[in-house]
Amino acid sequence: MRIELVTGDITAEQVDAIVNAANSSLLGGGGVDGAIHRKGGPAILEECRALRASRYGRGLPVGQAVATTAGRLCARWVIHTVGPVFSADEDRSPLLRGCYARSLAVAEGLGARTVAFPLISSGVYRWPKEDAVVQALAGLHDEPATTVEQVRMVLFDADTHAVAERVLRASEYTR
Ligand code: ADP
Repeated sequence: MRIELVTGDITAEQVDAIVNAANSSLLGGGGVDGAIHRKGGPAILEECRALRASRYGRGLPVGQAVATTAGRLCARWVIHTVGPVFSADEDRSPLLRGCYARSLAVAEGLGARTVAFPLISSGVYRWPKEDAVVQALAGLHDEPATTVEQVRMVLFDADTHAVAERVLRASEYTR
């Protein structure tokens, strides 16, 4: 599995599956979530509502992942995952790594070969960017023997891309 870092808007990605940094309600929010629903159109929200009415009556738990249609996006699926809110008092990093591992497992179950991830929890949920990248790489490598060939980490701006590049280079993971 190759990991590539790119800068830009995740809703412009042409991949099999786009991962959404959702919230537990699955009913939309700001940041990546807002952009995905705006550009993907109402079909995504419709499936999210159906999930809330069935499997996830109490919402999608933090660290879990579930797929829907990608609507009008250039992808077949959106995989919704809920990152933890950063806490200085409590180590929630297993949950953040779980978002990447669970999303990758869902992608594999769907037969996706290319998957785009945002830097989960690093926006409204305030996770420090550098550590968010560390957790992302660890989470991706927690999910072994994946059929996914390419993971694209989509960093929203050049500064975040530079941080991610530095972390990836310093990490034990090779491209
Ligand atoms: P969370 O609530 O999990 O923190 P956010 O959507 O607020 O999720 O932010 C996650 C990261 O995604 C942040 O680094 C933010 O700058 C970035 N981001 C926001 N919009 C986009 C987008 N359209 N494409 C890619 N990254 C985005």
